[in-house]
Amino acid sequence: MDKSSLMAKTVEPNHPSLHRLAIMLTEVCNLACPYCYEHRDPEIFYNPDPHKRTMTEASVIDMLERAYKIWPRISTLFFFGGEPLLKRKLIRQICEVVEAGSIPGMGIKPKYAMITNATLLDEDAREMVLKYDFGLNISLDGPPVVNDLSRIDRHGHGTSSLSMQNLAKLRDAGGTYHIEATFSRFHLEAGVTVMDLMDYFNSEHGVRVLHAPWVSATPDNRYYLTDDEIVESYIPAIRYSLDNLRKGVPKVIFLVDHWLQVLKSYDPMARRAYCPAFFSDLSMNPAGDIYPCFMFNGYQYLKMGNVYDDQFFKTMNWSVGRAFQEAIFGPCDCPTEYQAFHSGCVGADRIATNSILAKPYCGVHTRLLEAFLEMLMEDSSTVPNSSFHAQTTKMGVL
Ligand code: SF4
Repeated sequence: MDKSSLMAKTVEPNHPSLHRLAIMLTEVCNLACPYCYEHRDPEIFYNPDPHKRTMTEASVIDMLERAYKIWPRISTLFFFGGEPLLKRKLIRQICEVVEAGSIPGMGIKPKYAMITNATLLDEDAREMVLKYDFGLNISLDGPPVVNDLSRIDRHGHGTSSLSMQNLAKLRDAGGTYHIEATFSRFHLEAGVTVMDLMDYFNSEHGVRVLHAPWVSATPDNRYYLTDDEIVESYIPAIRYSLDNLRKGVPKVIFLVDHWLQVLKSYDPMARRAYCPAFFSDLSMNPAGDIYPCFMFNGYQYLKMGNVYDDQFFKTMNWSVGRAFQEAIFGPCDCPTEYQAFHSGCVGADRIATNSILAKPYCGVHTRLLEAFLEMLMEDSSTVPNSSFHAQTTKMGVL
């Protein structure tokens, strides 16, 4: 694809818009989760200039204004880190100028979102997220028996009790949130299954669709899971999800939710977007460098440009765009008829393979999808007249 047609697809100069701009307020985190890319690749993740590892009160609004000069319409400002609540003053500063409408050229008012480990979600932070109606994603890997193995502070101590206390107070104040759990060998060692996670997050946190992908890792990592371990862990959760839906219980694993959505809206002409990186989501780090997603922060060969480039689209590194065109819209190794079902995370794939073009989990995905389709078809005559049954019958899949 040539440069002009790629530009028209992604960042059309006349209507430049973004679904989500991740603002990496700081590269620093207060925790030391072993599988976080911050700790795995510190020499890449951290800017070599310590003054550029964190946005400042003096720089953050200037950087935001420059971002809006490039993309006047940003649907969501997504605060990211490190741990973004280490920089809550900057978050408030941004929310205040956005609410005041004082950013020149801001075409639409954005929503706010944040991913946080919740350990710093104190009264002040809770007031802020409620006031500005934040969409919150909480990084939590399960009940304390496993979360305290993976979500640890810099002294190796578990952080569950602090996160749980803060989240309970947020719920009491009427706040809601999503969970981002990472399933890994820690869970196998603690005897916690994916189904246990679904039950736990549903009963303790009100989560209906659990986003709990398996960890992306190379075999030398102690939290690595083999393909067989992944398949054996998720197939029972897929069955459990379908059983729940057949009983009218809205408690499902994200894979089933996604596959049902694909079936519901299946369009043979539609092009599958493997993930939103580059084409609708971008990330800006404390130095103002723009990447296709926060997952690639620090990888110079994946840097698109800098927010301080006055001619961003002219000077942008278009080889990144061409690579992501292939990664996002190119075929994967799943059988052709399954490719529409396979969404993924280019960032996670890169962690497992060191390439943004490799799709290491096609084999796992195919096995899980085939199991799901078989389960969907089996014993349909005994399915009660639930909304799930009505929906899937309408779709012609039962
Ligand atoms: S690389 Fe992963 S985290 Fe980034 S946009 Fe794609 S799916 Fe989301």
